[in-house]
Amino acid sequence: MYVDLHVHLRGTIAPATVNRLARRNGVAIREGTLRAPGYGWHDFPSFLRVYDEVAAAIRTARDIEEVTYEHLVRVGCAGTAYVEFMLSPPHERRVGISFADQLAAVDRAADRARELTGIECCVIATAVRQLGPDAAIDSAQIAIACRSPRLVGFGLTGNERMHDAADFRPAFAIARSEGLKATAHAGEHLGPETILPAIEALGLDRVGHGVRAAESQAVMAALARLGVPLEVCLTSNIALGVCSDIGEHPIAALAEAGCVLTLGTDDPGFFSTTPAREYELAKRAISDPNIEARITRAAIAAAFCDETTKARLLGRL
Ligand SMILES: [Zn+2]
Repeated sequence: MYVDLHVHLRGTIAPATVNRLARRNGVAIREGTLRAPGYGWHDFPSFLRVYDEVAAAIRTARDIEEVTYEHLVRVGCAGTAYVEFMLSPPHERRVGISFADQLAAVDRAADRARELTGIECCVIATAVRQLGPDAAIDSAQIAIACRSPRLVGFGLTGNERMHDAADFRPAFAIARSEGLKATAHAGEHLGPETILPAIEALGLDRVGHGVRAAESQAVMAALARLGVPLEVCLTSNIALGVCSDIGEHPIAALAEAGCVLTLGTDDPGFFSTTPAREYELAKRAISDPNIEARITRAAIAAAFCDETTKARLLGRL
């Protein structure tokens, strides 16, 4: 049984869906983009360009509902029991869908997918780092104004090289004061020295990626002592060059140091991966026959959903 704690909703979209939505919405997508596996990007700048091109096909609440439903049914039928989607208020608002309408669309899709497959899902509203601290406050305020039971967390995504984590302290304070749990991308593209300050400044309950902690024994020891779980995305790290292949991935060192590990697909439509594949890679990297159950238990404990949902998930294990 699989749990995915790190997945961007827009990053789940499959090529056939992009094609359908683009036609329906009159959005032009380059032919080569759809034909190539994983949208044919080859380096980080082309990944970002293709990501925006593909995501631009999503124009309406109905589109969001379809993308959400298709992903949940796809992974729900293949053993995934729980997913936490990252969804950023400013992105779809660009094309005029309010965040409340985005959440309502996810809710409708999640109800239908649960009916069909038993899968559960929740949502983390995210601020985008390169848009800056003021836009993050805006995102936090939009998020707390929407009282949806599935909205459980607040996160920070985007380019780690822009701004210090501490600049986003006010946005996280707003979100946390309303009971949202906190996560932020850190220690993916930047080094281990950025991880503990982010946890401290933003009051993080989990760290997005955090795998570069493995470059520092002291940081790994601190993470293990604090018990702050890492959302490790193996295929994403290999695809984006954080490490060269699974044999080189630091997940085994992180496990060895006692860090709490969970798994994520990040942008499965772009990395041609699934939760099942991420678990398979983890099993290959870590020599522990119980690693699958260990990771799933850690992920249920680290999930931002309520205790009733956690008990239901543990019951399925
Ligand atoms: Zn991510």
